[in-house]
Amino acid sequence: MKENLILHTCCAPCLSQCLMVLTRNEPYEKILEEMPDFEIFIFFYNPNIFSYEEYLKRKNEVIRFIDIFNKEFKLNITIFSDRYMEERKKWYNVTEKYKNEPEKGLRCSLCYEFRLLETFNLAEKYKIKNIATTLTLSPLKNTKKINEIGTKLSNIFNIKYIKSDFKKNDGFKKSIELSRKYNLYRQDFCGCEWSNKKINHFDIL
Ligand code: SF4
Repeated sequence: MKENLILHTCCAPCLSQCLMVLTRNEPYEKILEEMPDFEIFIFFYNPNIFSYEEYLKRKNEVIRFIDIFNKEFKLNITIFSDRYMEERKKWYNVTEKYKNEPEKGLRCSLCYEFRLLETFNLAEKYKIKNIATTLTLSPLKNTKKINEIGTKLSNIFNIKYIKSDFKKNDGFKKSIELSRKYNLYRQDFCGCEWSNKKINHFDIL
């Protein structure tokens, strides 16, 4: 019998390679601490993304990709998503005072925790037993910190957090190849206004 899993996702390019691993279309050794057969639910929860248009672009790309992936591999993966407008202000209040921190610094740790916490809340609500995140695919993110936060929340909620490092086995490179194959939108900044060097006007909604 399959175990259920919520895979928190940040965007379609990262999701593509992580799903290849989680559905055993790519080797999982070295990447995941364990790998039973999972029934997978996707959670697109990213109130960190600036702007709303950018958020919608990434979210719609995840929906489009899952539709393609389900058809190609004869799966029935379901997507949950967040309430951006309500969550955005909360996220901003947590991170704004650390806006001058470099990427991978304290602001990012708070951002990882904010998103993983809501993933655990969702898992608790729907009695999902396992959680993983695509956040560990990017070389620009602090994998050790993400896994520490996941483990800490796992102990609080008593829901299993599957430690990962999806960038292993050339995971990031493969995500670029998959993005080409599926013609996925690949953003050139992490998500928040402070990670986007091209903008200098911030409107938090
Ligand atoms: S750089 Fe990325 S991980 Fe860090 S706070 Fe911004 S959106 Fe979050």
